[in-house]
Amino acid sequence: MSFSQQTLIYCGSLIDGIANEPKPEMTIVVEGNIILTIQEGYILPKEFDNVIDLKDKTVLPGLWDMHVHIETEGGPGKYINRFTNNDADVAYDAAVYARTTLMAGFTTVRDLGGSGVNISLRKAINEGKVIGPRIYTAGKAIATTGGHADPTNGYNKKLAGDPGPIDGVVNGPDEATKAVRQQYKNGADCIKITATAGVLSLAKDGSGPQFQMDELEAIVKTSKEYGFVTAAHAHGAEGMKRAVLAGINTIEHGSFMTEEIMDLMIEKGTWYVPTLTAGQHVAEKAEIDGYYPEIVTPKAKEIGPQIEKTFAKAYKKGVNIMFGTDAGVFPHGENSREFGYMVEAGMKPMEAIKSATSIPAKVMGDFGKVGSLEQGKLADIVAVEGNPLQKIEVLENISFVMKDGVVYKN
Ligand SMILES: [Zn+2]
Repeated sequence: MSFSQQTLIYCGSLIDGIANEPKPEMTIVVEGNIILTIQEGYILPKEFDNVIDLKDKTVLPGLWDMHVHIETEGGPGKYINRFTNNDADVAYDAAVYARTTLMAGFTTVRDLGGSGVNISLRKAINEGKVIGPRIYTAGKAIATTGGHADPTNGYNKKLAGDPGPIDGVVNGPDEATKAVRQQYKNGADCIKITATAGVLSLAKDGSGPQFQMDELEAIVKTSKEYGFVTAAHAHGAEGMKRAVLAGINTIEHGSFMTEEIMDLMIEKGTWYVPTLTAGQHVAEKAEIDGYYPEIVTPKAKEIGPQIEKTFAKAYKKGVNIMFGTDAGVFPHGENSREFGYMVEAGMKPMEAIKSATSIPAKVMGDFGKVGSLEQGKLADIVAVEGNPLQKIEVLENISFVMKDGVVYKN
């Protein structure tokens, strides 16, 4: 880029991620990867300036999805892929999913657990070798033996072995501490635990707790020391409550969240990441014979509808909500379906948009750089035709994507 060349983006309507109302007819001035200023009206370009005309569009900050699994995409093949894929196969797949995610308008994601290839992917994206969103990755999720993120669940004994903290499987507070430090060493940005069983794992029941208090406390304490935001996958109430009491930052899914837990979350400032799209998707697919293993099907049918009910209740009660979909359980790139489900369950469209822009940036501690359209921030900018405040589904058709000042879709 030549000296002081600027890009003027004409915005028909601008949602900045902070204000409660959109602003009509604005110009965003981008220089390099930074938003230089945002001005009223369509200001005239200087000799060498570029103009991007989005006068017939609504412009928003790049979207954030706080719960994805960028390495994989679910389906009946998911269970056999674990045995056939090498890391290189995973990496090639992940590169495709990363691009798809960015093209859907998601300029930032939090990856809540894969094999660890997600750390290499983040590096490759940051170095400009692969096209994809900014990634905060948990590396490999931490579980207890047989827990939702024990990578050997369902294996025969010879293959299963006895994975330990180095593989993200812990028993007791010392191993829990070590597993967090191991993720730090591996290069993770945040921590994810599986506080209860899960829908898609080869285990029969999702309701019981899978960590004891001292293990949870060790994870939260160690994570704080390393500056990690912590996330807990939780369906059943007891495991969820323990995670909240231990000081976990975000509860994922939250299917059987009780009013008592909602009150606790409000009191402790815990965030709820509902993943409604995944709930809908698994319930739908469970109706197809043989789509999931027999042990998974009844869980998928029950959990899907439950999450939407819980979300509606938690929202009304005033629990802090953050946008997250569990993309990878359903096809990457369909992340924006979540907005429709959130609004359908009672959330105001502008609140849903903030939950996918400024709010996650604040929770991840990077609101000074990203998460809103403001002077001095990184130029992560998307646009859609139509008005998402009137029809939230328009966000499923993102027509313009700029990340870090580079246009990827127009
Ligand atoms: Zn997940």
